[in-house]
Amino acid sequence: MNTAFGQSTVLGYPRIGANRELKKAVEAYWAGTIDAAALEQTAAGLRAEVWQTLRNARLDAIPSNTFSFYDHVLDTAVAVGAIPDRFDRLGLSDLDTYFAMARGVDAEPALELTKWFDTNYHYLVPEIADDTTFQARPGKPLREYAEAAALGITTRPVLVGPATFLLLAKTSESSGRPFDRLGELTDTYAEILGRLADAGVPWVQLDEPAYVTDRTPQEIEALRAVYHRLGGLERRPQIFVATYFGELGDALPALLDTPIEALGLDLVAGQGNLVRLAAAGPLRGKTIVAGLVDGHNIWRTDLHAAATTGATVTGLADHVAVSTSCSLLHVPVDLSAETRLDADLVARLAFARQKVDEVVLLGQALRDGTAHLPDPLPATPAAWRHDEVRARLAGLSPADRQRGAYPERAAAQQARLGLPDLPTTTIGSFPQTAELRQARAALRAGTLDDAGYAALMRKEVEHVIRLQEALGLDVLVHGEPERNDMVQYFGEQLDGFAATDLGWVQSYGSRCVRPPIIYGDVARRRPMTVEWSTFAQSLTAKPVKGMLTGPVTILAWSFVRTDQPLADTADQVALALRDECHDLETAGITVIQVDEPALRETLPLRKADQKAYLDWAVGAFRLATSGVADDTQVHTHLCYSEFGEVITAIDALDADVTSIEASRSKMEVLDDLAAIGYRRGVGPGVWDIHSPRVPSHDEVIGSLRRAVAAVPAQRLWVNPDCGLKTRGYAEVEASLKRLVAAAAVVRGG
Ligand code: GLN
Ligand code: ZN
Repeated sequence: MNTAFGQSTVLGYPRIGANRELKKAVEAYWAGTIDAAALEQTAAGLRAEVWQTLRNARLDAIPSNTFSFYDHVLDTAVAVGAIPDRFDRLGLSDLDTYFAMARGVDAEPALELTKWFDTNYHYLVPEIADDTTFQARPGKPLREYAEAAALGITTRPVLVGPATFLLLAKTSESSGRPFDRLGELTDTYAEILGRLADAGVPWVQLDEPAYVTDRTPQEIEALRAVYHRLGGLERRPQIFVATYFGELGDALPALLDTPIEALGLDLVAGQGNLVRLAAAGPLRGKTIVAGLVDGHNIWRTDLHAAATTGATVTGLADHVAVSTSCSLLHVPVDLSAETRLDADLVARLAFARQKVDEVVLLGQALRDGTAHLPDPLPATPAAWRHDEVRARLAGLSPADRQRGAYPERAAAQQARLGLPDLPTTTIGSFPQTAELRQARAALRAGTLDDAGYAALMRKEVEHVIRLQEALGLDVLVHGEPERNDMVQYFGEQLDGFAATDLGWVQSYGSRCVRPPIIYGDVARRRPMTVEWSTFAQSLTAKPVKGMLTGPVTILAWSFVRTDQPLADTADQVALALRDECHDLETAGITVIQVDEPALRETLPLRKADQKAYLDWAVGAFRLATSGVADDTQVHTHLCYSEFGEVITAIDALDADVTSIEASRSKMEVLDDLAAIGYRRGVGPGVWDIHSPRVPSHDEVIGSLRRAVAAVPAQRLWVNPDCGLKTRGYAEVEASLKRLVAAAAVVRGG
């Protein structure tokens, strides 16, 4: 039976719960304090709450299977039977096999974790081996559909589409590309769609965001073939292909040419979609799901402007539904939970729950006209401007982004630091223990005063310094105990930023972050990190790195104002960091690390847009770091991504040392760096800190030997993949011991 799509929908909704209930339950299950049944009960409660919230908001097309215990790409891998043999062999329950793929177990490293397009969400990269046989296992979407149906709510199961699934996948062997298996996988999807139809599912959503990035004509043809095949099935739900994060380009007419019933377009990040849609001619029988409400940022929608765009779409297609531009996974749950935000700011914000209301309003406006839409917002408050910062920015010259020549810098730094070959270090944070978190909670609650809190943090810094000395590391860190989060910490100390109380967003698995909101001009009020760094340095004769978060990452992990170019906001942040670097240096800090883990993450999805981004991103980093003397060693750190595409930009950052995630991708990045003639220091991660697994001695030595084959020992650093804040002390000590020992072995030849 054909049912209409509906007039309003969202492509997905946060699954973590308003108070991170999912995180807490999953972590309790991992810790063994609750069992699978209790975990499942919490999960079912969260799912029901989302469906009921959406229904009560009068959204008339409600998604399901957007819940996940860890990651929706991993869920899709399970639904198509792409479970690598190495996990299947473990003989665990379905749930534990699932978590083993996500987190690794002693014997098996996890699937690779990487960025979900240009967001701060990370998905697990499906592994497709030669002997992977796809198999339809739609148990989860079917169960969730039935669960919602039992609540009287008809839902639309969501799966990653077959083409995107394979474009995101990796082979674990040398032979063919995963994408070559598309025909086979489409058969499996056909079977899944049949099973959904048998269960009475009226609509299915297949997400194909991979097509908003540059794709070859062959890949676009393959997409067309997939949806011709699926659209031609006799038994299937109606098909909604959702795309998001940008412009579809040639894939847009290709998809419209297939028998799918609905196509979703991002009209926020992909305004050119409108032009392509108009060029596609009259769209008979198709529903266009217009992504008019930004699912990727937290600003209130200009509803009048969005309604105008919606009206344009209405003129082009038979049926139009309003939706969010992408899943609401990427924004916090509910603005009404925030009680401490400035009223002027609240008036300009919309979180997931509020965005649902906007979608519903726009859906109604498309039908009944715009008379009932609320008035547009008044102009930005003058108090959000900083004329001094603006004047400084206007006065910048290229020299403000340029350090001295590297060979002289390297010599000056070596003379001052006297480091051995293969110097060992860590990325910055040490475990955020329960005591640290409790101290922070007590400080917030007012049961611990500033002095008491600072004393506890100093004790922790001292502990971290003593531990590193005992382990024999060469360049130490203070451990970042005082930081709740590497961006939020700076946001709290800078003008122009606001912090939320409950604005949590899933980053990966059970890890959630609370991005600050950059709403006004950015300015530093006073030194932000100098006290901690100098205190740590006072405890040891070894160099202690000053630790800052770079401008690109601060932007990437914040919700950023959209009323001025990102480049200008980045430079404002960079100026604040430049002053901080200067103050650290003056206070006697000899090594400063400016982390840019998100450099790759916000790379525009289309090649044509990338150069402009990298220019301002590199420029901002250099503005932040180039004010220091030659003998101050500047480090940067990158992670969470594959870096091939930004490798020349990494070089252009001109940092003296770059530590970079590499262990899961087997040191591949070193070849990329060698290929462009990178000449400065590099520390490829030799311990995957995303899982609690302690690497074996041979593993670390193997990685280091691979690395010394590509990079001379004088320039090669030994470090983990990333900071240690999510790890426990037991595995940290054990792993760092291996790392230091391995460095000694490899130094010895
Ligand atoms: N210095 C930070 C830390 O160690 C870097 C974190 C990151 O790269 N994500 O925690
Ligand atoms: Zn990192």
